[in-house]
Amino acid sequence: MDFNDTPPEAAFRAEVRAFIEDECPPGIKRRGFRAAFGGGGWDDIHMSREEYFATNGGWVKKLAQHGWIAPAWPKEYGGAGMTVMEQFIFSQEMSLSGAPRGGNFGIGTGWAGPTIILHGTEEQRLKYLPGIVQGDEVWCQGFSEPGAGSDLAAVQTRAIKDGDDYVVNGQKIWTSGAHVAQYMILLARSDPDAPKHKGISYFIVDMKSPGIEVRPLVNMANNHDFNEVFFDNVRVPAKNMIGEENRGWYVGTTTLDFERSGIATSISHSLMVKDLATFVRENKGQGFISESKTVKNEIADRMIEAGVEEMLSYQVISMQNRGLVPNKESSIAKLFSSELDVRIAGTAMRVLGPYGQLMTGSEHAAASGRVGSTYLYATTSTVGGGTSEIQRNIIASRGLGMPRA
Ligand SMILES: Cc1cc2nc3c(=O)[nH]c(=O)nc-3n(C[C@H](O)[C@H](O)[C@H](O)COP(=O)(O)OP(=O)(O)OC[C@H]3O[C@@H](n4cnc5c(N)ncnc54)[C@H](O)[C@@H]3O)c2cc1C
Repeated sequence: MDFNDTPPEAAFRAEVRAFIEDECPPGIKRRGFRAAFGGGGWDDIHMSREEYFATNGGWVKKLAQHGWIAPAWPKEYGGAGMTVMEQFIFSQEMSLSGAPRGGNFGIGTGWAGPTIILHGTEEQRLKYLPGIVQGDEVWCQGFSEPGAGSDLAAVQTRAIKDGDDYVVNGQKIWTSGAHVAQYMILLARSDPDAPKHKGISYFIVDMKSPGIEVRPLVNMANNHDFNEVFFDNVRVPAKNMIGEENRGWYVGTTTLDFERSGIATSISHSLMVKDLATFVRENKGQGFISESKTVKNEIADRMIEAGVEEMLSYQVISMQNRGLVPNKESSIAKLFSSELDVRIAGTAMRVLGPYGQLMTGSEHAAASGRVGSTYLYATTSTVGGGTSEIQRNIIASRGLGMPRA
């Protein structure tokens, strides 16, 4: 395989790079070690919406003017109509520079919007997509419930038809960003008597609707990212349903496909490892860096693994570029990437030894105490978007043809 850009791809890469260089204020860039171990990243979920737009708003507007909040969306819906390969190059350049992507925390552009483009009516597209491509609306995803995670089709939240509305009752959990979101994509059971995959409908819910209560869940890294969301007789207009009644499961699986085929992390991982190596070099002999050879070997292993991850991303991209739909390939890339998250954070902890446990606020904390919280946070990537065990099941059954049970 030739990994070099074709001349048009090289020209596009230069255009994106120059745009970022000219337009993105250096102070808002977060890359490599700083992004990963900064508890932040491209779309900093820990900032309030107001704080986010106060610091990043000007840049987000410039991205929106180019259609670069949702670069692969068709131009008529505010995207830039990029090809899969152009979008990949765009993502690579954004990752390399550390420029923030936009204001909507990923779910709107990443999987709610693409699902609406694919399964929504024209009226729904015109109503909901403009807010997403301007980067100023936050979306959240109400799929998981206390009794329905890996077995998502077991959702019990009810949506019962009443006139022009559905009345929703029940509970969602682990809902990232629900505390700042304007809209939710919701899976709810509209026919309790049908087989479980055939009685679910898919809705867009205005988070300001009466009867919605959002309760914070603070994770072990002390971040408030996700929430419990309770529905008490919440009226959702029937025109907010995406796709057909009781066919929502099939719309939901499209959303999950979009969610799992996210591909930007390989660049971030190699930047993290490079920045970790720089950190070790710059702080050698300071007393808080491990001088062990094993740790150096570990950093080298992480660098090799980031390279492997990049190849797995290329496999997914090259399939999408040929019009194929990656399936087990997305699961392989997702599994490798999220487990690598955990390994990189573990290596960073071993670099710092006992100092790694000192968190932000401690006067003796190295790297501003960010490594410890990154270590605690890293495990979540092996759960969100489908756990590692579920990805292994998919690879075994769909990739290797092994029996399901
Ligand atoms: C950071 C983060 C953000 C999230 N954000 C959202 C969000 O915004 N919206 C949303 O709806 N959900 C969200 N989730 C929830 C996530 O999708 C679920 O946690 C995940 O699907 C697992 O479901 P569960 O927690 O119910 O675990 P369970 O499904 O109960 O699994 C428990 C354990 O059993 C294993 N297991 C289950 N079934 C099998 C099987 N068939 N074979 C082998 N092992 C199995 C699992 O791998 C896991 O180790 C988020 C989760 C995290 C960590």
